[in-house]
Amino acid sequence: MSQPAILILGANSLATAQRIKAALPDAAIYGLAGRVEGADVTYDEFGPTLRDLYNADRPIIALCAAGIVIRSLAALLQNKQAEPPVLVVAEDGSAVVPLLGGTRGVNVLAREIGAALGTPPAITTTGELRFGTCLLNPPVGYRLRNHADGKTFIANLLAGAKMRVEGEAPWFAEAKLPIDDTGTLTARITPADVEPAADELLFHPATIVVGIGRAEPDLAARILTALTQVKLSRYSLALLLAAERDVGNAHLTAVAAELGVPLRYVTDTTTPEGLVLAAVPEPIQAVTIETLAIAVADKPEDVQMAGRKRGRLAVVGLGPGDASMMVPAVRRELDQAEDIVGYDTYVKMAGPLRADQIVHASDNREELWRARQAFALAASGRAVAVVSSGDPGVFAMASAVLEALDGSEDATWHGVDLIILPGVSAAMAAAARIGAPLGHDFCIISLSDNLKPWPVILDRLAHAAAGDFAMAFYNPISKARPWQLGEALDLLRQHRAPETPVVLGRDVGRPAERVTSLTLGDLTPEMVDMRTVVIIGSSTTRTIKRPNGSDWVYTPRWYGAEPVEAKKA
Ligand code: SAH
Repeated sequence: MSQPAILILGANSLATAQRIKAALPDAAIYGLAGRVEGADVTYDEFGPTLRDLYNADRPIIALCAAGIVIRSLAALLQNKQAEPPVLVVAEDGSAVVPLLGGTRGVNVLAREIGAALGTPPAITTTGELRFGTCLLNPPVGYRLRNHADGKTFIANLLAGAKMRVEGEAPWFAEAKLPIDDTGTLTARITPADVEPAADELLFHPATIVVGIGRAEPDLAARILTALTQVKLSRYSLALLLAAERDVGNAHLTAVAAELGVPLRYVTDTTTPEGLVLAAVPEPIQAVTIETLAIAVADKPEDVQMAGRKRGRLAVVGLGPGDASMMVPAVRRELDQAEDIVGYDTYVKMAGPLRADQIVHASDNREELWRARQAFALAASGRAVAVVSSGDPGVFAMASAVLEALDGSEDATWHGVDLIILPGVSAAMAAAARIGAPLGHDFCIISLSDNLKPWPVILDRLAHAAAGDFAMAFYNPISKARPWQLGEALDLLRQHRAPETPVVLGRDVGRPAERVTSLTLGDLTPEMVDMRTVVIIGSSTTRTIKRPNGSDWVYTPRWYGAEPVEAKKA
């Protein structure tokens, strides 16, 4: 199921929305802009947002009057292509009403939400009420092949017909179905490639695994042909298995995506039979066809945990602090991560996290140590996010992670799905607050001499100053490095006039934010701490007054002479 959206229109609904979210940790709360603080996502217009979610097949839980939802979705209801579960919940949690998506688990969702709110859901689906299950919505691990026959089947059951069960349907045990060996209707549960008979519901359990000996061309087609040859249904295909040495093989990844099943890896085996037997030690059926091995497990649970998945390691930039300055791809990655690794101050900025996500916060400042820890986790098949403030490639974890990889011969580390996602760096965030001081050529220099010698820093500063770059200083000063900034400023003053604009951005994007404009002549090291980014203008940087008395600081796009347009005029 894709991520449920809990829509609220006002702050009064937030408490109920949060109680629902506690029961559905995957869900995101959507709050109306200007009315709701603290939602996961803000939206501007209710109707279009609702319709977009509906068309994207997202389960919808709206905390508002049923009428509003019905009217907003009315035009879309003709088209039965997408019908995600849609429910309305009273603002105070006193009513839970499933509206749409009867065959897509809306009543299951309604019961879960009802349980969380202590409110019995208003279930109106007759079959479901009578039989205690929606036959057309089997649990995870089972697929109904002939959905279209479902309505008639249930109507016949409601009219009094009885049903035989061929195969194992453990979830029927909890239901109140009229099961009888002499029934005229049949529920068949089988991985076999058969056509549904009349008066039959055909369920395919996800019990088939296919071991791939070699990543050869036309693999998807060959797998389907092999399944047909042994009369097994492709709808029972649970997953593909490959050897550890193939981790990250793009062709195999594409084949799994094409067949719509996960790809898992098995260690220390190379033959296709070895792969499937390592994952499913006691198959009820096993066969090898050329470079493919097929094994059938007794029940879906037997294969759900088979093999291990390819680990993912995402190095993400959180931006300066405020959630609104985090890029959406980073938020998505954090939401998908199983493990969050980082310096504890930054891990706190990565929230909201779910209870099932494991946080590896450390006060260990050694970045390489943290990078290795992250690789070890990812190589074991987990989805790991390593967090940095700002951008991960600016004096942060991305380099450390790549350095750890560079120094490793471990093939499982190199097989990890590694991705780096950018963030808004402190200099960009501070510059935007006060105008565009970095609007022309600029450089970013860390004044920390922990990882490079001080003479190198002075040399770079001298060249940047001589080249008339605007500059942003990171790590400008700390208790352990009290004098360096003063020396850097002395050097700069030999190249720049005292009137040169300077911007100090402290705690940008955080509650204590302070962005100030001053001049190089007035700047003293006491004004700066390690939570500050210092921006020094170039010779062309200027200041203009805002109506409120504060400054805009900007560096023009043109240099030295008039801009080209002005010359033409
Ligand atoms: N990767 C981070 C930089 C890490 S180095 C980024 O791209 O922003 C740490 C330095 O960045 C701090 O000493 C400070 O100079 C600057 N910095 C980081 N976050 C800041 C913020 N929110 N406000 C002001 N400066 C910040």
